[in-house]
Parts: sequence; structure tokens; C-alpha cells
Amino acid sequence: MKHGLLIDMDGVIYSGETLIEGADKFIGNLLKNDIPFTFMTNNSQRTRLDAVRKLKLLGIEVTENHIYTSAMATGKFLGDQGAHTAYVLGEGGLLTSLHENGISLVNSDPEFVVLGEGRNFTLEMVQRAVDMILAGAKFITTNRDPSPKKPGWNNLGIAATTAMIEEATGRKAFVTGKPSPVMMRSARKYLGLETAETTVVGDTMETDIQGGVQMGYKTILVLSGIAKKEDLSQYAFKPDLIVSSVDQIETPLKWWS
Ligand SMILES: [Mg+2]
Repeated sequence: MKHGLLIDMDGVIYSGETLIEGADKFIGNLLKNDIPFTFMTNNSQRTRLDAVRKLKLLGIEVTENHIYTSAMATGKFLGDQGAHTAYVLGEGGLLTSLHENGISLVNSDPEFVVLGEGRNFTLEMVQRAVDMILAGAKFITTNRDPSPKKPGWNNLGIAATTAMIEEATGRKAFVTGKPSPVMMRSARKYLGLETAETTVVGDTMETDIQGGVQMGYKTILVLSGIAKKEDLSQYAFKPDLIVSSVDQIETPLKWWS
């Protein structure tokens, strides 16, 4: 049986602009041994090329084929749902993916309002989105990653914006990014793997690990990012393996036989 990996990036491969020690060696090893993998990121703002360039600056050389984003999962989902039009609060990667899946971006009367990460939309645009949802448009958010709640970070992130629109409309957003099965499943299919062949590597219990556990994938938590060892007992689910960083992951994994 073949085996492959869905690998989160932030907190796993890099932290901000800094490479996590050993991550380049880990990815180099996967490439050398022809182990299928894709990076799986909830960030819908960046295009695949943006992600490839960022990795290259950190010394990791991969192609766009190695990148799977929540923007891609969202575009594919809307295409599969037969959607035609969307009003988008978001940037780069999300706009590209919706185009690629045949969704027209409109400024009035959309079927869907789609929210992604961004710094360029205004409260006026948020108000317009709220009015569209109240008039019947469906509300999708690419993810609900929590704010880091630290000074100097992106604390007005997507969870905060999603909550603002939910409060103003009384409608809950449908989430397409991790831990949603929409993305967890489409990323696996993108790699051509079966459930039993899939392992998720991530630093966040609420997204990577919960998503993987719910899908029946194997899961590896790295402690180089958000999750702290002392907090793990509060979760009703646990990863199959916990390591300090990807540097400690040895392939073939023990369940690859
Ligand atoms: Mg992460």
C-alpha cells in the first residue's frame, strides 16, 4: 500500500518568516524517497505560487503541485455545488480559485458570499455582504482559524470577521477549510490516496488533528507551533503521534506496513 502526508505549513515548516529547524531536511527526505505529500494550508489569501516562493526563500524547493489551500477546496466545493456567482471578501488565491472553477465574481445579487483572509476590504464591503446574506445569499467562510490574541499579530483575522457577519445576519457560516471534511477529503483525493493511506501532520489540535481524526486519517502533532503539551488533556481526541518538530518524524512511519 502506498502512503502519503498532508502537511500543514505555519508552525510546522516555518514560524512567521523563520524555518523550523530540520523542516528542510524532512521535506528533502520525502522528495528523495518519492513519498507523496502536499502542503495543506487554511490560508486562502496566498496563491500556490506565493506559497512556493515563500518556501523557496526558506530553502525548500517544491512545485505548485505540492500546495493545497483552503481557497482551492472552496473553489472546488462551489464548482461541485453548481454555483455560478459569488461576492468575495478576500484576496489573491481565493479569487484565482473561484475563477478556475467557473464562478463569476459579482457585486450584486450573488448566490454566495465567500469570506477569506484579507486586509483590503472595508466595513462598507462587509455591510454589503451582510445585506446580500439577509437577502438570501449563502454564507461560506474559508476557515475559522482563531486569532493568536497576541499584540503585533493578525488579530483581526478571519474568525473575527466571520463572527462579525454571523452576528449581523443571524446566519452561521459554512466552513470549507480545515477541519471541515470538505478540505480534509479533497486534499486526500488531490493526492490520490485512500483514507487508510493518509497521515496528517499539523501543529493545531482544532484544525489539523481534529480534521484528521474525524476523517479516520492517522495524525501527527508537532509541538513547534500552536499546541502545547500541557493543554492536550482538555481535548476529547488525541493524535496518533506527538513529536517536538518534523525533524523527529522518521519515515517510513510505524503504521506504514
Ligand atoms: Mg499551523
